[in-house]
Amino acid sequence: MKQLHKLSTTTHHRRDEESPTILTAHQPYSPKAQKHPYSRSLPRSLSYLLTEQRLLFIIVGILIGSTFFILQPTLSRLAPPDPDRRRPSSSSYVPTSVSYWNRESVSSPYRSWGGSGRVPAGVGRKRSRIVVTGGAGFVGSHLVDKLLRRGDDVIVIDNFFTGRKENVMHHFGDPRFELVRHDVVEPILLEVDQIYHLACPASPVHYKYNPVKTIISLMDYKTNVMGTLNMLGLAKRIGAKFLLTSTSEVYGDPLEHPQKETYWGHVNPIGVRSCYDEGKRTAETLTMDYHRGAGVEVRIARIFNTYGPRMCLDDGRVVSNFVAQAIRKQPLTVYGDGQQTRSFQYVADLVDGLMALMEGEHVGPFNLGNPGEFTMLELAEVVKETIDSSATIEFKPNTADDPHKRKPDISKAKELLNWEPKVPLRDGLPLMVADFRNRILNEDEGKGNK
Ligand code: NAD
Ligand code: UDP
Repeated sequence: MKQLHKLSTTTHHRRDEESPTILTAHQPYSPKAQKHPYSRSLPRSLSYLLTEQRLLFIIVGILIGSTFFILQPTLSRLAPPDPDRRRPSSSSYVPTSVSYWNRESVSSPYRSWGGSGRVPAGVGRKRSRIVVTGGAGFVGSHLVDKLLRRGDDVIVIDNFFTGRKENVMHHFGDPRFELVRHDVVEPILLEVDQIYHLACPASPVHYKYNPVKTIISLMDYKTNVMGTLNMLGLAKRIGAKFLLTSTSEVYGDPLEHPQKETYWGHVNPIGVRSCYDEGKRTAETLTMDYHRGAGVEVRIARIFNTYGPRMCLDDGRVVSNFVAQAIRKQPLTVYGDGQQTRSFQYVADLVDGLMALMEGEHVGPFNLGNPGEFTMLELAEVVKETIDSSATIEFKPNTADDPHKRKPDISKAKELLNWEPKVPLRDGLPLMVADFRNRILNEDEGKGNK
């Protein structure tokens, strides 16, 4: 009986909640009902929302919440990273990334918050995931800097054969940067939008003069062929864009001057440079075959002699040799009679060209180089003017199959990529001297001969 009574009270009470009009009719006093006359005609839950500006608060809350979620991704890109997280703790850290050599620090489409961290001024561009093979090398590390500054996510793949961790260690701690020790001769699976394929033991010391030069040459060939095949396979599998960094060496000792992309070259297939030259020619062939046969979106850059900070100190290339020799007060070694010519491009110009090529719509190949042509003797004079006018010159025998002249015709890149180099040799050389001085000094300190 007690239970029955209880049940009937509860039921009555529930019914009362559902019909506020009935409730007010039976109850003598209800302050809320009197305060808000519309509560008589509206369902009770709605009336609850409308009372005491609750609805207003809810709407304002929803507005604030949605504004935050819309703006959050943009704000997180604009926010400066914690500078301490970017800086490695190693005591041997040398700020090689500091932009004293980077002309963007002077006139820049990027806003700088100091060091190497910058953001693009134009927000709203889709952020890409990008692999740079050979990204710990000379050219690769500058490319990585610029891609990160643009706001992309970058994965570097490198086996450190000629590259150095120091070239990218200023990005350690940046969540948008990853470094993978891997040999591109082995396959790898990653999910990315673009692949810049630079990995290659590129410097002449490694493919000409090394005591184990045959092995190194073969590594060169193998990297160019197997490495390129693996990266093309990856691009095909995941639908990524693929850019090959080929070389002016595909023209060999050219019979056409300046060299246009239409020139098929004059290469010795059995000489000491062949592994590099033929390796790159094969890499171009594979790239075009994957494009035609498998529909991979590809780009081919033919890079001419490039110089700048972070070049290997003793890689045997002429600019790094002359600059290091002048700083160390050694004679500048000119091979042959010094009348052979090259055209030297500053690394920041090359990086601009590579990115314009990747983002553009044309497969190529494109010559990327500075058409300013110098004999090796003229180069030696510029180095003397820049570093030490008292430096002497020492002539040495030249190497086999050395191209007599080289100069890019860049009209195709100018027209289709809207790209041309901006830094003349006399402006670019001083930009690498501070970096070289620093590293030579550190090397000497390491050896204990201060
Ligand atoms: P680099 O030697 O400084 O960089 C090459 C990078 O590739 C290094 O970090 C090296 O460790 C890495 N690497 C080599 N073999 C590898 C492998 N099997 N797996 C993974 N990583 C590997 O040379 P660079 O001057 O920066 O050249 C970059 C690219 O540009 C190369 O493909 C080169 O052929 C091309 N290129 C450069 C120049 C130039 O003047 N610098 C001229 C023409 C072409
Ligand atoms: N060279 C030179 N002295 C050196 C190193 C190179 O005179 O200490 C010459 C070399 O013989 C060649 C030119 O400089 O004619 C460019 O050589 P590098 O190896 O830099 O580039 P590549 O030959 O691949 O263009």
